[in-house]
Amino acid sequence: MIETRARKREGVATVEEAEEWLGLRAVLPGKEEAELASALGRAAAETYVSPFPLPPFRRAAMDGYAVCTADTEGASPDHPLLLFVESELKAGQSAEGVRADASERSAVRVFTGSPVPASCDSVIIQERVRRVAGEDGIGVVQIDRPAELGQHIAEPGEDLPECSLLVKQGTRIGAKELAILASFGFERIAVYKKPSVVVLPIGDELTLPGQPLLPGRIYDSNSFMLEASLREMGAVVHRLPPCADNAEEIAARIDQAWDAADLVVTSGGASVGRYDCAKSAAELTGAVPLFTKVLMRPGTPTSAFVRGNKTLIALSGNPSACFAGLELLVKPYLRRALGREQFRNEWEEGTLSAGVAKPCPYPRFIRSRVRASADGWRIEPLPNDRSGNVAAFAGAGALAIVPAGGQGAGAGQRVRWLRL
Ligand code: AMP
Ligand code: MG
Repeated sequence: MIETRARKREGVATVEEAEEWLGLRAVLPGKEEAELASALGRAAAETYVSPFPLPPFRRAAMDGYAVCTADTEGASPDHPLLLFVESELKAGQSAEGVRADASERSAVRVFTGSPVPASCDSVIIQERVRRVAGEDGIGVVQIDRPAELGQHIAEPGEDLPECSLLVKQGTRIGAKELAILASFGFERIAVYKKPSVVVLPIGDELTLPGQPLLPGRIYDSNSFMLEASLREMGAVVHRLPPCADNAEEIAARIDQAWDAADLVVTSGGASVGRYDCAKSAAELTGAVPLFTKVLMRPGTPTSAFVRGNKTLIALSGNPSACFAGLELLVKPYLRRALGREQFRNEWEEGTLSAGVAKPCPYPRFIRSRVRASADGWRIEPLPNDRSGNVAAFAGAGALAIVPAGGQGAGAGQRVRWLRL
């Protein structure tokens, strides 16, 4: 391993460094307002706290009879007690004034979600009550045990007191966050603006769907994967048609793309071969390198360049290298650009269920399947994991790291892994 400072001088980054440098480069987004339902998937641009207690009023948690506990003392099977049901409160009605000047031994018929009058402190469930006169709602009922103070009543603020943290700034708003915000009637939510990303596939051999596949050519799959993945995260993505392996042409496309987007992601031509033009194209734009090599496999030739607040991430064209670069480097950048507070990848630990017999001078990222077992996560490396292969993504739920050096990793070895 090269000494850290010399390594950095030469533009070589570890995955962790590359992730951090890119994340910190990301342009923090502006704010806008979104209607509650369309805030789904966006990051909250403000911290939201509860403007009132939830539930907002004392309410019944069961169908039954709201009573004052003291009125029911002494009730037993031998000495049942009568209660006069003088009113009924349905869910949605106001309890104001109900049972305000009621006689002792009076009850209010209530249902789940009904408000409970201030003079009542318990709800007796309907199964514990026998109707002896009148109708359901107005009449006389009999109980054979005393009510228990506070039972089947939800007090205001029992769910969330006033001024509780609901959603922290920078949190992704999912269905659960929406439910909490909706509970307080928030109609519009401050969210971060969507960042724009341009995806540019590079390679003379690349063909778009709908075009005939000429000899020696392949269909471009990377740009579709990148577009889909970044769009799923919440970015506005422009996928450009494939560009030839020509530095001037690529530079012109990147230049133009930066007018519309802060981030350009290319795939292909990333290495140092005669027809690999991504790096020279980046230099033609006047951008300076953030790093030109990452200690990872696949994807070692991955680089990143910056010009002002514009960033280029040049990924390898090999589909699995492109995929690894997306997960390890592009996504952390984008999370930050989306306004998420937590932008770095979060790694877990697990145990390899089979060995990976591939010595490597750099950490190797293995597409794997992951499942829970009694002694933690089991990581099953997927077969057919050559860096040029696309098919191994499909079943992959994790990227596991086999540390650098040695002969790979053996079954039973503890490894770190990233959920995909
Ligand atoms: P490169 O990074 O340009 O050296 O490409 C490495 C390998 O990935 C070659 O076999 C390319 O044909 C293939 N490749 C490059 N770009 C793409 C793409 N957009 N979709 C699928 N395969 C690609
Ligand atoms: Mg190429």
